[in-house]
Amino acid sequence: MSQTRIHSLFDQFGILVTPQRLEVASILLEKPQHLSADQIIERLRKSGSAVSKATVYNTLNLFSEHGLVKEVMVDPIRKFYDSATHAHHHFYNVDTGELLDIAEEMVRFEQLPDLPQGTEQQSVEVLIKVRDRA
Ligand SMILES: [Zn+2]
Repeated sequence: MSQTRIHSLFDQFGILVTPQRLEVASILLEKPQHLSADQIIERLRKSGSAVSKATVYNTLNLFSEHGLVKEVMVDPIRKFYDSATHAHHHFYNVDTGELLDIAEEMVRFEQLPDLPQGTEQQSVEVLIKVRDRA
């Protein structure tokens, strides 16, 4: 993704431009993908970047707070950042750690519970955990 495109996305999502944010965004937004913070740090290191771990974590939090990327929690200690923010679901392979997209229309709900009083539905996201066949 071009720097110009990233600048305009930052503008659209109300994110101030810093060199570090541009570096993180150019890796994550390169294509539709799911990356953990550690995977992003690894790629930054490979490209010779000196952005600190803490900055990467803070930047990813900021991106997701502003809706530029989506967080996918696969378990309490593993979180992925999804460059595709449209509504969709996921397969998560617990053996390979791979996350795969499922188109929203591929999942149908026969019945959903009544929402707690005073709330409205924000989203429904399904994570189907799979493992390799033995
Ligand atoms: Zn996804």
